[in-house]
Amino acid sequence: MSKQFSPLASTLLFAQRQHGLFINNQSQAAISGATMELENPANGEFLCSVAQADVMDVDRAVHAAKNAFEGQAWGKMRPRERQNLLWRLADLMERDAQILAELECLNNGKSAQVALVMDVQLSIDFLRYMAGWATKITGSTVDVSIPLIPDADFHGFTRREPAGVVGAIVAWNFPLLLACWKLAPALATGCSMVLKPADETPLSVLKMAELVQEAGYPEGVFNVITGVGSIAGAALSEHPLVNKLTFTGSTQVGQIIGKAALDNMTRITLELGGKSPTIVLADANIKTAAAGAANAIFFNHGQVCSAGSRLYVQREIFDQVVEEIAAIANSMQLGEGMDPSTDMGPLISSKQQKRVQRYIDQGKALGAKIVCGGESFGPGYFVQPTVISEINQSSPLVQEEIFGPVLVAIPFDNIEEVIELANDNPYGLGASIWSNDLALVHRLIPRIKSGSVWVNCHSALDPALPFGGYKMSGYGREMGEEAIFSYTEHKSVLIRI
Ligand code: NAD
Repeated sequence: MSKQFSPLASTLLFAQRQHGLFINNQSQAAISGATMELENPANGEFLCSVAQADVMDVDRAVHAAKNAFEGQAWGKMRPRERQNLLWRLADLMERDAQILAELECLNNGKSAQVALVMDVQLSIDFLRYMAGWATKITGSTVDVSIPLIPDADFHGFTRREPAGVVGAIVAWNFPLLLACWKLAPALATGCSMVLKPADETPLSVLKMAELVQEAGYPEGVFNVITGVGSIAGAALSEHPLVNKLTFTGSTQVGQIIGKAALDNMTRITLELGGKSPTIVLADANIKTAAAGAANAIFFNHGQVCSAGSRLYVQREIFDQVVEEIAAIANSMQLGEGMDPSTDMGPLISSKQQKRVQRYIDQGKALGAKIVCGGESFGPGYFVQPTVISEINQSSPLVQEEIFGPVLVAIPFDNIEEVIELANDNPYGLGASIWSNDLALVHRLIPRIKSGSVWVNCHSALDPALPFGGYKMSGYGREMGEEAIFSYTEHKSVLIRI
């Protein structure tokens, strides 16, 4: 593994700091003084330590956000100013894009080059898209009837008002981008926020917090609490002063947070796990479909909620497509993310590496065929890109989210069969169809039970297109107008005139 590619000096300076919580535009130690260590997943070495928040710190951050929401500086700020601040934040992120990308690499293991053009650029684009919404939040006028008061005149209208204090909790696979998917619509609508990054990956968000301050946001509008999910995350999701919760992570934790939200009637959006099918029909171009299917599962080392982790190929071309994907997998270079020749970095942690390997070993024990890959190695938490065939649809490898570079491949004979196979799973986040038979594709789209269907592409997201899950993949939608709605309360006003 190459050691010759170093991050910028300013990245290292930031990464190696002792980091505090970010509350009221200041870095603050946890009240208890507790800290926790972060590591670089490419080598398992100590990276830095961050403050470990507990219930008291979360309470402090929520009060800071509440004061900001109710204060003059933020509460009375006009939409144009909120738009300009989001745009300014995007400009500052563009200035520091390389640092943000390198922090993602050091803290998460992903390629710095990919983080620059994907994670960071998409975050900037998303902030600018949502900046535009700040000045376009409207209600409607409604011509009412009110039959019980027949002789009166009325003026009926609606207002969209910011929901209030937002508690945001995110996963480690796209630390900055997932945070921006929440921060941007929340701040566009005038909410304030307490964000809990994943335990493992707070660095890029802590860097962004400095830029929030530099952009000129008033104190308490955006706060970051680092720490352990079951302590800091739980305290945030149970806090009675939080008006809206938004979560990206596993279905299991989403259910816990959903129950806490219900106790306080907190509004909630849940973006959860997935086991998305990639469906290749017989007419598809084999090379194009195989490259697309390989990217659908191996991008970000398979640690993507909408990863195409189940492959269904029409039997006539099954062997050729699987062979092509295996050739792509075998050609991928695994290494540390600072090296520009790296195609795939490590998984996030030793725990995740062991979990993914357990699934692969279970496949082997079940007699499945390991077409390629199948092994883990170190130092660092690497797992080879793996393709598994001759596996039963009911196997845990086909039914459960592995969240690593593992593809299960199953042939099918006809359209009815593949619809049944694709929908035979608890999740429903995304699906892709690879075909140029327009009529067939259009017949398939409405019958696939998932929040997104991509045709001849996979996991292609846009700030204007809603994103979210059917079934166990979540509740509500992010992106576009629906995201804006989800951070507002809709008030009806009726005036008798
Ligand atoms: P996770 O659910 O373990 O953790 C996610 C976040 O929840 C972390 O910040 C964690 O600290 C916090 N948390 C953990 N326990 C908590 C509790 N009891 N109360 C409150 N917060 C708690 O998920 P992960 O392992 O970090 O991420 C992987 C999962 O995220 C996968 O299932 C993946 O599919 C999902 N994901 C979904 C999307 C989407 O948009 N649908 C995107 C990315 C990841």
